[in-house]
Amino acid sequence: MIAESDLKANMDAVRSRIEAAARRAQRSPGAIRIVAVTKGHPPELVRLAYRAGLRDFGENRVDEARAKQAQLTDLTDARWHMIGHVQSRKARDVVGPFALVHSVDRPKIALSLARLAHESGLCLPVLLECNISGEVSKDGWDVASGTDRTDLLASLLAVTRLPSLEVRGLMTMAPWTGDVMLLRHVFGGLVQLRNELRDAGAAALPELSMGMTDDFEIAIEEGATMVRIGRALFGDRPAGAD
Ligand SMILES: *Cc1c(COP(=O)(O)O)cnc(C)c1O
Repeated sequence: MIAESDLKANMDAVRSRIEAAARRAQRSPGAIRIVAVTKGHPPELVRLAYRAGLRDFGENRVDEARAKQAQLTDLTDARWHMIGHVQSRKARDVVGPFALVHSVDRPKIALSLARLAHESGLCLPVLLECNISGEVSKDGWDVASGTDRTDLLASLLAVTRLPSLEVRGLMTMAPWTGDVMLLRHVFGGLVQLRNELRDAGAAALPELSMGMTDDFEIAIEEGATMVRIGRALFGDRPAGAD
């Protein structure tokens, strides 16, 4: 596990890069939140990160996240983010323990979560995951060219209107590439989609969750409000964590 001094140095480096990217885009660095991605790491690493001042933690597997939470119940103001695909049979387990579910990636899971949230008497904050790049390996509403835009907007709008879900914005994952133009196209595409939804009458949708270790600066220049960062903070994950 990473040493505390190395973690602090990594946090400083990530924060300066966030500030520089925000400055380039004439944005306030305070408008960008770090979601520290702790998947694959032990609970002690979350505790270390918490002590170093981080509060938002991202996990991509429901069972792994719940097991970690059970060992960290004293971190009462930690905010847990579900950032991975949620299988239908796990839907029940993400209603309650997570401050925000970034990965609502299809109408069916949106409906299940809305029903379960209603049954629990709460309103679940979520983001809608969109597949801008069109890669078949990616989850999310298919936004790639060829999809009828009107149908796409109608499907997303319907989810924003479900009672018991608070749709706070959109999320995307960029392809694994060093092609900056392509990355800008993907991140810019999410912003464009958010704007179209707003114009079509959706609520404000203020959050845009986009950008990871290899591309967060570009995502910030394009408008990210949440960056999901693992390796740049904690180093490489133990094998098999993705
Ligand atoms: C693992 C993961 C991240 C973080 O990736 P890094 O490259 O380590 O920053 C971000 N988002 C999602 C959805 C992930 O699964």
